Amino acid sequence: MEELYKENILNHYRNPHNKGELLSFTFMGEGKNASCGDEIFFYVKLDNDEKVEDVKFFGNGCAISQASASMLTDKIIGLEFSQIKSLTPGDIYNMLGIKISQGRVNCALLSYEALNRGVKNFELSKNEK
Ligand code: ZN
Repeated sequence: MEELYKENILNHYRNPHNKGELLSFTFMGEGKNASCGDEIFFYVKLDNDEKVEDVKFFGNGCAISQASASMLTDKIIGLEFSQIKSLTPGDIYNMLGIKISQGRVNCALLSYEALNRGVKNFELSKNEK
């Protein structure tokens, strides 16, 4: 079973989904993992109902960090903003489907952190209005 998940991670790494930049987006967040050199930028565009209309990520780094970003874009497209806010690290681990060793936790959760940073920026900007 674990092999299937590994295969899936490698597929996402080699052929990432929704990779690129959005010129028009509602919020973006970035994450950097110094220990591994991973970098992720997450761009999210919400529609008028605060549903994810489009999402792209950009970055580079190890297979786990890039695959988790690719999978996360697939996961959140069409979700409501409130649903994105309630995602947990456990959701990311479930999505990856393999045991993440202590040393790779930062890699696995980098896209989640980048997304969350964007979520917080968006909420701050809403409060200012
Ligand atoms: Zn990494």
